[in-house]
Amino acid sequence: MKALSLLSGGLDSILAARTVMEQGIEVIGLCFVTPFFGPEPARKAAGQLGIKLIEHDFTGDYFEMMKNPRYGFGGNMNPCIDCHGMMLRTAHGLLEKHEASFLITGEVLGERPMSQTKGGLNAVLKLSADRDLILRPLSAKLLAPSKPEREGWVDREKLYDFSGRGRKRQEELAKKFGIKDYPQPAGGCLLTEPNYSTRLKELLKHEGLVRRDVELLAAGRHFRIAPDLKLAVGRNKAENEVLLKLAGEGDLVIRPDHHIKGPVGLLRGRPDEAGLALALQIVARYCDVKIDEKLSLNIYSGKDQMKTQETMKPAEQEVNGYMI
Ligand code: SF4
Repeated sequence: MKALSLLSGGLDSILAARTVMEQGIEVIGLCFVTPFFGPEPARKAAGQLGIKLIEHDFTGDYFEMMKNPRYGFGGNMNPCIDCHGMMLRTAHGLLEKHEASFLITGEVLGERPMSQTKGGLNAVLKLSADRDLILRPLSAKLLAPSKPEREGWVDREKLYDFSGRGRKRQEELAKKFGIKDYPQPAGGCLLTEPNYSTRLKELLKHEGLVRRDVELLAAGRHFRIAPDLKLAVGRNKAENEVLLKLAGEGDLVIRPDHHIKGPVGLLRGRPDEAGLALALQIVARYCDVKIDEKLSLNIYSGKDQMKTQETMKPAEQEVNGYMI
């Protein structure tokens, strides 16, 4: 008997997988990948549990769902019910390929305001392909028995009746299992972050959901220079490197001369003269020179330096209005 366990890498998903493993069932971890959430926490969790991990990128379908999620968004741009339903539906489609008989999720009744109320859990089930094959070990005793329980594949008596937002029982169970290293709840999904959500909404109004533009949202300060022109400016060395990696065809990279400390700017769109001049000023705003001081900025297309242009560092208020 094998089961596929949705593994976000959070404590609930670790405990749910481990609870079923305790019953002698082989568990394979499954995590989903989009520009909004990545596989790193799940990799760590799978390593801790000693199980194989499948990483499934479903960005294209996810973007489609984001255009009009049936159950709407949560406090930010997080369509949690549709997201969970989609994960379960996709996971169901992977059962046969991995010779698994049922699915495991770490959902806890009443833990989250949107997707984990009784209505929310039912809505998630409605969106999934076969609700009967989904086992929620942490709240199973509060829910109708699923097929794995009715058929005796798992012992329902050894499952749990966790509910509510408190973490005490999860922490006790983690202790019992000797699990010490786990992330704090609600981390890891950019869609739950207010600032990120603001940028994403702004992107939807202009470029729409295009993967390379969505990927850019995760790094730097962002500025809308014109409806079809956007600038991202790195806030530190790590972000500068990310921006350099993300610079693709048609993008311009703006950097100060090597003797001046300053950020990388990534300009995306079709800049006219005024648009480019404004982008240079914004990059200059974060360079280590005095206000109104002249400096040279290099402009690259791909790896080729196109030109060097002079600009002047503006006062903060002159460019802040462009920040998203
Ligand atoms: S927090 Fe993010 S990953 Fe989790 S269900 Fe909500 S939208 Fe999906």
